[in-house]
Amino acid sequence: MKRIEEELKKVKNEVLDCKKCSLYKERVKNRFYPVVGEGNHQAKIMFVGEAPGLQEAKTGRPFCGAAGKVLDELLDSVGIKRKEVYIANLLKCRPPENRDPQPEETKNCSPYLERQIEIIKPRVICLLGRHSMNFLMEKFGLENQIEGISKIHGRLFESKNLSLNITVIPFYHPAVAIYNPNMKKVLEEDFKILKTIIK
Ligand code: SF4
Repeated sequence: MKRIEEELKKVKNEVLDCKKCSLYKERVKNRFYPVVGEGNHQAKIMFVGEAPGLQEAKTGRPFCGAAGKVLDELLDSVGIKRKEVYIANLLKCRPPENRDPQPEETKNCSPYLERQIEIIKPRVICLLGRHSMNFLMEKFGLENQIEGISKIHGRLFESKNLSLNITVIPFYHPAVAIYNPNMKKVLEEDFKILKTIIK
């Protein structure tokens, strides 16, 4: 346990000092925080989003705005507490105006996420949104199975890459449910699969 704490702390300190891509300048200019990740260091389930939104960048906490509220409700609907899971993002600093991650930013920042996964060793990684889905499915050797999120949301994919036996599940990003109750229902149905995995 001590080893996990120390290794995660090392990742955190590196992110706090990181200047590897231009998002660092945005962060400093706006007095934002990087969002490293938080949650249970021995989590069986890890959630990976895309990048911090405004609220997240202001606080340094992942999924703490409106989309985070939806995520909390979804977790609640399947009896999972937020403190039981670990939540991180593909990018640690906020892209301006919530634009898509650029390839160079993903290339520079993703090694932090990969290390977090290798340290925590979750059994299941829930991919929240298109960018984290594409990146991690490729990393886990599942590139041939990537399709549009509307086709593969809620499906389980098994992988042995990164020296881990891992299940990845793509989900719609919780933000889609903020103004669309129908999408909330879709997400609620998809989240039910987590109950069976936890058992
Ligand atoms: S987004 Fe990632 S790579 Fe870019 S400055 Fe922030 S921590 Fe470093």
